[in-house]
Amino acid sequence: MRIPILDLPAQYKPLKADILAALEAVMATHGYILGPQVRIFEEQVERALDVKHAIGCASGSDAIVLALMALGIGQGDEVITTPFTFFATAGAIHRVGATTVFADIEPDTYNLDPACVEAAITPRTRAIMPVHLFGQPTDMDSIMAIARRHGIAVIEDNAQGIGAKWNGRSAGAIGDIGTLSFFPSKNLGAMGDAGMCLTNDDDLAARLRQLRVHGETPKYYHKWVGLNSRLDTIQAAVLSVKLPHLQGWSEGRRANADYYREHLADVPQIKLPVIRDEALTIYNQFTLDCEDRDGLMEHLRAKGVGCAIYYPLPLHMQECFAYLGCNKGDFPHSERAAERVLSIPVFGELTREQLDYIIATIREYYGG
Ligand SMILES: *Cc1c(COP(=O)(O)O)cnc(C)c1O
Repeated sequence: MRIPILDLPAQYKPLKADILAALEAVMATHGYILGPQVRIFEEQVERALDVKHAIGCASGSDAIVLALMALGIGQGDEVITTPFTFFATAGAIHRVGATTVFADIEPDTYNLDPACVEAAITPRTRAIMPVHLFGQPTDMDSIMAIARRHGIAVIEDNAQGIGAKWNGRSAGAIGDIGTLSFFPSKNLGAMGDAGMCLTNDDDLAARLRQLRVHGETPKYYHKWVGLNSRLDTIQAAVLSVKLPHLQGWSEGRRANADYYREHLADVPQIKLPVIRDEALTIYNQFTLDCEDRDGLMEHLRAKGVGCAIYYPLPLHMQECFAYLGCNKGDFPHSERAAERVLSIPVFGELTREQLDYIIATIREYYGG
């Protein structure tokens, strides 16, 4: 049996006719740049996530850059975030000229530990950037309380958590600005790069709309220097077809996760993902903490089961961030996670037969 970590063809098949029709509708008008489909999709997201403003842009990475720019964060400013995340989180902070200050994660959820965030605050701190890793929201009650106490902003990197909730509120719609990625492997994936900013603040929304078109308003008059970072009309059309299915896909992922829990809980060498009571996760990844992780990975791959390490090297140990002056040992929970995590297939289209095969293959490796 061969099981990929994500089966995009299986997702595409039932949607093919609708997607092709949506693409033809774009080509019929040739409105490739900010055509009407972009605003239609933005409105769909606003309704689905119960957020006042959604502003489409070219990628999840650009969405973070735009969020930082909209808040006026740059040279001399510090932004606190996690070292256990995809590169773009800290890459964006660097891109705007600000300084990344890392804080360690909670060892069980892999999300920013609010106590570590609080300890990292200085007079230069302008924002906290939690990442809702693997689709589970960070403890936003604690993060928002710290931010209010210190008068600083919160940018939620919600690239992995569209549709996730913390205490009933949509992840990405709780802080000052939230960002989304529609990279094909995210729960709502485009057919290329695409991203979005979310905010409930009218002024920030207006600024984000200007910043994605070089800061211009009206045309050819520029109050700020922005980016060229629009959501492609073609991608918006595809995403509009897919969005109504997102909730069902996420429910499928949660059902698969429950099945793993039922059948893997007694394997002493692995720890299953810990989900807080306040959190509704969307399982962008189902990530195990495993003994002899690399051995298990080789075994799964040899047996045809797709799996991946997100992420093998924490950001404070990346060569390009050596200038930040961090050392191995500075963020022990992040470093330990990087050595032990392994993500296995959890996508909604997995069959019971595939799940049973994955479970049996893991059990086989650990000898029972
Ligand atoms: C995917 C991802 C991004 C970047 O999104 P792109 O659309 O690939 O630019 C940023 N942060 C996190 C946590 C991600 O997983």
